[in-house]
Amino acid sequence: MTQAAAITPGTIIVKVGGSAGIDYDAVCADIAALWKAGQRLVLVHGGSGETNRIAEALGHPPRFVTSPSGYTSRFTDRQTLEIFEMVYCGKVNKGIVERLQKLGVNAVGLSGLDGRIFEGRHKDSVRSVENGKVKVLRGDHTGTVEQVNVGLIELLLTAGYLPVLTPPAASYEGVAINVDGDRAAAALAVALRAEALLLLSNVPGLLRNFPDEASLIREIPADDVESYLEFAQDRMKKKVLGAAEAVAGGVKRVIFGDARAGEPVSAALEGKGTVVS
Ligand code: ADP
Repeated sequence: MTQAAAITPGTIIVKVGGSAGIDYDAVCADIAALWKAGQRLVLVHGGSGETNRIAEALGHPPRFVTSPSGYTSRFTDRQTLEIFEMVYCGKVNKGIVERLQKLGVNAVGLSGLDGRIFEGRHKDSVRSVENGKVKVLRGDHTGTVEQVNVGLIELLLTAGYLPVLTPPAASYEGVAINVDGDRAAAALAVALRAEALLLLSNVPGLLRNFPDEASLIREIPADDVESYLEFAQDRMKKKVLGAAEAVAGGVKRVIFGDARAGEPVSAALEGKGTVVS
């Protein structure tokens, strides 16, 4: 059983990834126990693994691009955006809401587009490094979260509903844009003045020598997060960046935790994983 001792005053934001190995049943059971014990909490989730599988099955395989500064992201043309929405806002979001409802938690699943919960600038083109050359790709539906509709989240929390949020976000023109879930969760944590942001994935935390799990970095000082970017490859870089943005915005603790088993949220709140503070 989850110990009530894990309860934190204030709000916590839990971001759970969408990669292989994540145990959504364990995450939802732990969240339900904490919620029922009075923890104010918002859940943000991804869905990249499932989106890749379904996109392949639909004959529109994912295309990933690497920017000149080394960040990898999904190239999101209109068809990809529609598949992305089906999976993130449909299958994954409703799967989580259903699990929470079965556990007696009145969860409400919304995307960042709904009520403009997540809002940002639409970036139509992306620079991609291919065979050592930089190309400009147009027709991208991506962006970065710059504004959060805190009022709507507060309204739900105050009325006793647990918000379950997912990309896409809304552009200022009202167009759906794919945004990074970790950085969206970080923006939400800052906007809600959250106590803690938990970034749960299929690794024990930030590893000094990925994939050696024994090389877990236990602590990162809040004023030095960016120097740990060198240890992160691929999408882990966005998590480190999100953590840096959250602590710079006043969030006291960001924890990279393991969502593969056990009580992932309680364990992270107890400091298991990589703690940025
Ligand atoms: P999610 O979809 O769960 O949010 P991502 O797949 O975006 O997670 O990012 C987590 C992945 O980052 C891990 O599964 C791992 O493969 C990769 N990774 C790269 N570098 C590191 C590192 N230094 N420590 C931990 N994981 C890393």
